[in-house]
Amino acid sequence: MEIKIGMNVLEANNVTAARNQEIFRENKVFVLNIMSSPGSGKTTLLEKTIEALKNELRIGVIEGDIYTDRDAERIKKHGIPVAQINTYGSCHLDARMIKEVLPLFNLKGLDLLIIENVGNLVCPAEFRLGEHARVAVLSVPEGDDKPVKYPVVFRESEVALINKIDLLDYFDFNLERVQKEIKEINPEIAIFQLSCKTLDGFQLWLDWLRKNVGQ
Ligand code: MG
Ligand code: ZN
Repeated sequence: MEIKIGMNVLEANNVTAARNQEIFRENKVFVLNIMSSPGSGKTTLLEKTIEALKNELRIGVIEGDIYTDRDAERIKKHGIPVAQINTYGSCHLDARMIKEVLPLFNLKGLDLLIIENVGNLVCPAEFRLGEHARVAVLSVPEGDDKPVKYPVVFRESEVALINKIDLLDYFDFNLERVQKEIKEINPEIAIFQLSCKTLDGFQLWLDWLRKNVGQ
């Protein structure tokens, strides 16, 4: 019985996600859904990405958080449009929440809309938002066993970002093995390793974005 209810929730979400995608297509805006555990560096990744691209792309952000608007405040400082969604207990964003904040944006005036999902490696992967691409972020301090333990988010994503590689010397993190394991889960996924602090590897991520936005 519980499984059946769960399926209905996901089916209803898929319908709304398809409607969102239609809106994004009409307005020619490329949409990313960024997913990870808390503390993997999603907001810093967004800030560095905005700083690097804001002169060439018109970017907007939707910040998902359970309670606070701290991340949205950080993004606002970069002078781009931001909408905050507080889920008040729900540990993921769903398509209806996205639909409700879309009127806050001038979508025709955007090239790229980045959605920062609630920090959680499990259920955000189940809820499509209407995005074009999903990005799973894994940071070195979290440990290299996460893709094997939480395969769904990696299976459902187009991009895996291995973040905080500046910390590789301080953690037992086998970069080679983790990349192999991610590819076993999802052979199509693009993997980038980078540091948002030193900006090592950052250009390849920016190049992927430039290539995909506006396609
Ligand atoms: Mg954040
Ligand atoms: Zn959830």
